[in-house]
Amino acid sequence: ATPMSIMTATGRGAHAGVLIKEAAALERFASVDTLIVDKTGTLTEGRPKLTDVVAAEGIDGNDLLALVATLEKGSEHPLAEAIVEGAAERGVKLADAADFEAITGKGVAGTVSGRKVALGNAAMMADLGVDTATVSAEAETLQAEGKTAMFVAVDGKLAGFVAVADPVKATTAVAIKALHGKGLRIIMATGDNERTAKAIARRLGIDEVRAGLLPDEKGALVEELRAKGAGVAMAGDGVNDAPALAGADVGIAMGTGADVAVESAGITLVKGDLNGIVRARTLAQATIRNIR
Ligand code: ADP
Ligand code: MG
Repeated sequence: ATPMSIMTATGRGAHAGVLIKEAAALERFASVDTLIVDKTGTLTEGRPKLTDVVAAEGIDGNDLLALVATLEKGSEHPLAEAIVEGAAERGVKLADAADFEAITGKGVAGTVSGRKVALGNAAMMADLGVDTATVSAEAETLQAEGKTAMFVAVDGKLAGFVAVADPVKATTAVAIKALHGKGLRIIMATGDNERTAKAIARRLGIDEVRAGLLPDEKGALVEELRAKGAGVAMAGDGVNDAPALAGADVGIAMGTGADVAVESAGITLVKGDLNGIVRARTLAQATIRNIR
């Protein structure tokens, strides 16, 4: 290979949509052995679509959707956008929400039309003491397809669940193969539930899955692996990835993601797809060969 200085690498990187903020990060990337990747918005498009509305007995599906979509108007989460859009597509009329509250990594809650509504994952329902057993088999079937299910509680009782699907980016599968070829162990770190995460990881041949993580826990995973002696790169797009991006030997942000993710990372991928990581690894290895 052609010897390459950091400056040349930085220029070539920029040309290929790999922005190197910190030259040392690129050098370090040549020697890391572990790549942690966020799921939503990194492996996947990050534009989920509402696919299923499953109402408990005696409850109308559109009424259920109206309650949760009204609540989600107050949230900026991609899951919230999917639900609000899905309601609009189905012609469901929204009301007004009060006492809106977002619980990081778990869901949202508030009052809609005089009723207390909560929407979120199993952990959120457990916190509220709401039993999800009546719909859990149906939810698990959808999760095994890689969909994300969000349970709905109305006035403290389970009212059903909604599910969304977030397609894997067209470039992800090939990039994962190439990264494996470049000697990286690949670990998915996600706030989503384990069943959904594993369904997607299996399709992509990802080596390991850590699911149900809160933002601090993604950061703790980076620490844990580094403490075991691994060289760790982290790729992510979200506010919830910022601690892990900042703590990794190399943080790689999707340029399509949150500003705080980009600010926390040494390398930014303009197009926000994993092929940029393959290019960065190639550049890094070419650079290090020249330095040594
Ligand atoms: P990620 O973006 O990696 O999936 P988050 O930490 O943002 O992780 O969310 C974790 C889980 O919490 C989601 O999969 C979902 O089940 C639940 N959740 C978070 N925010 C919302 C929301 N606005 N509406 C419904 N569920 C939510
Ligand atoms: Mg994300």
